[in-house]
Amino acid sequence: MAKRDYYEILGVSKEASEGEIKKAYRKVAMKYHPDRNPDNAEAEEKFKEAAEAYEVLSNPEKKQQYDRFGHAGMRGGGFGGGSHVNMEDIFRNFGDIFEGFGGFGGGFGGGSTRRASGGKRGANLRVKVKLTMEEIAKGVQKKIKVKKYLTCDTCSGSGAKDGSSYSSCSTCGGQGYVRKVSNTFLGQMQTTVTCPSCHGAGRVVANKCGSCKGDGRSFGEETITIDIPAGVTDGIQLSMSGKGNAGERGGSPGDLIIGIEEVPHEYLKREGNDVIYTLYINFADAALGTSVEIPTISGKVKIKIPAGTQSGKIFRLRGKGLPAINSYGVGDQLVEVNVWTPKDLSSEERKMMEKLRESNNFQPNPGKSDKGFFSRVKDYFNS
Ligand SMILES: [Zn+2]
Ligand SMILES: [Zn+2]
Repeated sequence: MAKRDYYEILGVSKEASEGEIKKAYRKVAMKYHPDRNPDNAEAEEKFKEAAEAYEVLSNPEKKQQYDRFGHAGMRGGGFGGGSHVNMEDIFRNFGDIFEGFGGFGGGFGGGSTRRASGGKRGANLRVKVKLTMEEIAKGVQKKIKVKKYLTCDTCSGSGAKDGSSYSSCSTCGGQGYVRKVSNTFLGQMQTTVTCPSCHGAGRVVANKCGSCKGDGRSFGEETITIDIPAGVTDGIQLSMSGKGNAGERGGSPGDLIIGIEEVPHEYLKREGNDVIYTLYINFADAALGTSVEIPTISGKVKIKIPAGTQSGKIFRLRGKGLPAINSYGVGDQLVEVNVWTPKDLSSEERKMMEKLRESNNFQPNPGKSDKGFFSRVKDYFNS
């Protein structure tokens, strides 16, 4: 059978640009792709034919030669011609053509990126750090001791006794990848995968480091300094890249994941960036007014309780809350007043109360002095 013209195979003119040729080849290759044409020998031939045509027409030098001499000028070039075209070579050379086309392309790229460190990446390490509200308010530096895999000092993680203790990996012959052969309708199809013995390094340690027995790491303890920013919240996770477990045989280290846990405060409750304090005052102080010392996250402060303060009144201490993480905002402290009603009374107190009970000023009059719950809530949001 006479060889078909390469331009004809791809369905392009002699004037076609590089991009047009590539596009045309992709179209033809997809049409006759073995994935789409299982057990179809004719499609396979067409697929190979197109690859051969593309191999020549995508190469300016070969294209020029072909343009001048036709197939006669192609002797010894290309894939060796027609039915001898190797499917693996097609995918290896033109793998990018098939990008995004499921199942192909990926497995053939192994050869070009094979010089990996050869080691397995270390696992991430998780720790919990408990913080008080005061620490959260200011941000804090914590030094924590963690037990983890550390890079071996003796061999700097390589796992080898010294620089000359390597030998070529016998599994892959130093290639870093191995070919996997699977039987398909095309005969044997090959894919390349990273060598399981050397993990892509192409070499193995012949004389192992005595300290780590070739692992490149050993289990130990490290003190890690963690800078925790102000305003973190319970349950969030910070991560320090590379501070996790050391990798095996020079593999990159994992990350340290720090889970934040808030220690409940003795007196204060957190509500977002605000801090809530519930203040109990006695009946007399509420009526007469007073000043009381209350805790805040930055120490004790004195606040004035005006005469006639009702239970449920909320005082707002601006800027006494927590900073917002990654921003400039600071929350407030809210002081919620509760008037304490005595549970036991002496007979003298009882007499005084009986007297007060009759007094006009002791009759509830929320319309004047207490605006009621809903107004208070409104005040709260407007203040
Ligand atoms: Zn070592
Ligand atoms: Zn290997």
